[in-house]
Amino acid sequence: MVSSGVAAWEQRWHPLREEWVVVAAHRQDRPWQGERAEISPPPLPEYVESCYFCPRNVRVGGARNPDYQSVFVFDNDHPCVGTDAPRELEAPAGIYRNSPATGVARVVCYSPKHNMTLAELEVDDIAALLATWREQYVELGARSNINHVLIFENKGDVVGVSNPHPHGQIYATNFVFKIIENEAVVSRRYYREKGRVLFQDVLKSELQDGRRILFENSSAIVFLPYFARYAYECYVAPKETHASLATMTAGERDDLAAALKSLLVRYDNLWRLPFPYVLALHQAPTDGADHSGFHFHIECHPPLRKPHLLKYLAGPEIGGGNFLSDTRPEAKAAELLALSTVHYKAPHA
Ligand SMILES: [Zn+2]
Ligand SMILES: [Zn+2]
Repeated sequence: MVSSGVAAWEQRWHPLREEWVVVAAHRQDRPWQGERAEISPPPLPEYVESCYFCPRNVRVGGARNPDYQSVFVFDNDHPCVGTDAPRELEAPAGIYRNSPATGVARVVCYSPKHNMTLAELEVDDIAALLATWREQYVELGARSNINHVLIFENKGDVVGVSNPHPHGQIYATNFVFKIIENEAVVSRRYYREKGRVLFQDVLKSELQDGRRILFENSSAIVFLPYFARYAYECYVAPKETHASLATMTAGERDDLAAALKSLLVRYDNLWRLPFPYVLALHQAPTDGADHSGFHFHIECHPPLRKPHLLKYLAGPEIGGGNFLSDTRPEAKAAELLALSTVHYKAPHA
């Protein structure tokens, strides 16, 4: 076994993406010592008059938000895809092809409180959000022209979010987003060839090693995968195989909510800052194909390596398409494991 302080140049296989991740961690790159970022963001009020997401406010499109009390879903006023996308498109030249960008784009507000975050919500409220995500997936996925429902959250300025009001988005599209399409193909092939669920074998391998498991309860698990591309990339998943939230029991959703909260709280506790990330639910496509080998999971991709230090995508990532990581997943998992699962802003933290 290689200790986390040892220099390492190593290629790790990412079984879901079927690509190499290069780990190039160095001796000098000691684990983060818990330095605090100098600037903490100013506290926000619970209600902001100019916020499009706050209860009772009028949105860009002219609609008024209800006086909602928990989760609130509405159609995105600036959709990337829409039911009224133009059907008649100009035919492109040569081998090129196009298609109308039809679909549904929605916004999901997690809380009426402008200054709340997903990490700070009570586990029950996160479970209520999971129930809403489930309803949305089922409702939109049932439509014949919707082949995939992508549910995600962008959190923080560094991933382009200007409004801190806690919210995520849904893109229900006629095509399957590339990473999920790939996971579906890989999972199906594995299931056919080996008779086992690929993600279950990933879980088994993680449990066998044990160093990167961050949280576990009776039906859910959180881990920083062996093949992580980003320093603090983590997966949250049910232990039983479900292709989506649709087949999970309320009890399993409660466990998943607790697991997700534990991770997001640790993220915030890392630098005592609201931790930016891109969070995405990877659920099976709703294209009518057989997805019995698909295992639903939530992926969190934080873009920061250190406070205010972004993971820059450059030659290997943008030019070549494979990630080069300068941190070892075991060291990053150890850092997160050392942190409390009580939020630093909580009254008794
Ligand atoms: Zn707001
Ligand atoms: Zn995935």
